[in-house]
Amino acid sequence: MELNEAIAKFKATNKLLHAYNHAMGVMYYDIETAAPKNAAAGFGETLGTLSEVAYKLSVNEENFALVDFLTEHALELDEITRREVEETAKEIRQARRVPVDEYVECRKIQATASAVWHDAKVKSDYAMFEPHLAKLVEYLRRFAGYMAPEKDAYDFWLEEHEEGFTTDVLDVYFAKVKEALVPLIHAIAKRPQIDDSFLQKAYPIEKQREFSHYLMEVMGINGDDCTLGETEHPFTTGFSKHDVRITTHYHENMLASNMYSVIHEGGHATYELNTADELISSPLAGGASCGMHESQSRFYENIIGRSLEFIKLVFPKLTELFPEQLAGVTPEMFYLAVNKAEPSLIRTEADELTYSLHVLIRYELEKRLFNGTLSTKELPSEWNRLYKEYLGVDVPDDKHGVLQDSHWSGGMFGYFPSYSLGSAYGAQIVAHMRKEMDIDGLVSKGNLKAIVDWLTEHIYKYGMVKKPKELIRICCGEDFDARYYTEYLIEKFSNIYGL
Ligand SMILES: [Zn+2]
Repeated sequence: MELNEAIAKFKATNKLLHAYNHAMGVMYYDIETAAPKNAAAGFGETLGTLSEVAYKLSVNEENFALVDFLTEHALELDEITRREVEETAKEIRQARRVPVDEYVECRKIQATASAVWHDAKVKSDYAMFEPHLAKLVEYLRRFAGYMAPEKDAYDFWLEEHEEGFTTDVLDVYFAKVKEALVPLIHAIAKRPQIDDSFLQKAYPIEKQREFSHYLMEVMGINGDDCTLGETEHPFTTGFSKHDVRITTHYHENMLASNMYSVIHEGGHATYELNTADELISSPLAGGASCGMHESQSRFYENIIGRSLEFIKLVFPKLTELFPEQLAGVTPEMFYLAVNKAEPSLIRTEADELTYSLHVLIRYELEKRLFNGTLSTKELPSEWNRLYKEYLGVDVPDDKHGVLQDSHWSGGMFGYFPSYSLGSAYGAQIVAHMRKEMDIDGLVSKGNLKAIVDWLTEHIYKYGMVKKPKELIRICCGEDFDARYYTEYLIEKFSNIYGL
């Protein structure tokens, strides 16, 4: 086969796959946001048919041969095509190397585990779920062996989500996080707590909606390229840089919940909206990795959105919309309230300071489950012990403990660390940005565009062309270093709590 011919064929398949994925993505979005409840069955049928066609397009001997051929000629390909081939090879690896009967069996176990988990969580009954979880771990360990026999099984799953971040890197990272944050959290527990009760007054949802659109404007998000929907759990989905959908949720008594959901998802959207034009409809159009995407959402949410400068910037709008609720509240009081740090049981509700310890606990447990030093039967007691040791909280039941996240029931292991790495990437990137620009001054003036431009030039435009480790080097001129994150948290929260 001629190389040019092979490239053309590869690109044509990608274009077709992109079309199917685009159509399916819009349907998923519709199910989540707009479709009536009874539409689910019909959508299920259509999605099943479309995904089967898409699966057959990429999982077939001819395509395997094509990807192998291009992999052999990787050095002759331009950077974008080379990365597209690499990502495709990664995607089809499971179908090529895992025996079909085992794959099918595992999918069935996954579906059952997921259903049982929902039930077990409601009943707070871990024993119901445990045998399914044990089987899943066993399968995933075996699958890792099929796909990358040279690698440790847990390292394999970690790198599925964040390439380059194996246990030897993460052990160092989490050790630093633990060493810096556990004593700080225990010290804060002895300080007087911040009063954030005014955030729980009644904030009419109609006014909160108005505030959401104002926040998107402040962030410089173009309403012609990005819309805001409403779902129970906020998320972002991007179909192209001209079609990004973010969602939020409204609770009358939780002003900060919507506010920071919009800013967080707006951060994800800003990434998607600013990838290079040449990546449109390429499989590389999204963010570099889960962690890198999360670095941008958390950068906007915590580093920008929870800064005093940002609060001062949006405060006139807040008091215009909610004059009675915020009577007597100053920007400084608001700043303290949205930065209140308090150990809690539920990861998704955790504050900026304690969040990474929730992740650390999951990381330690996953690692031990995969290396055989912890059994699924022992999991809840270890979970509870670590929550007490690191966060000082007593876990009352499994619903508020080991059963709280859906990830494990879906066989998603090795994903949690990317949530924490996102914050750490963000802190390192911002430390380097500060050398080139006065971030606080720009935020005070409402000039977030200068910040977006910098991030576009150093991160966004690359999409998935560069991997997370490379992006850190491009942005910061050095390797990933957890120090920036721990220093940032220590400084910020020592000030807030007068330590
Ligand atoms: Zn996110």
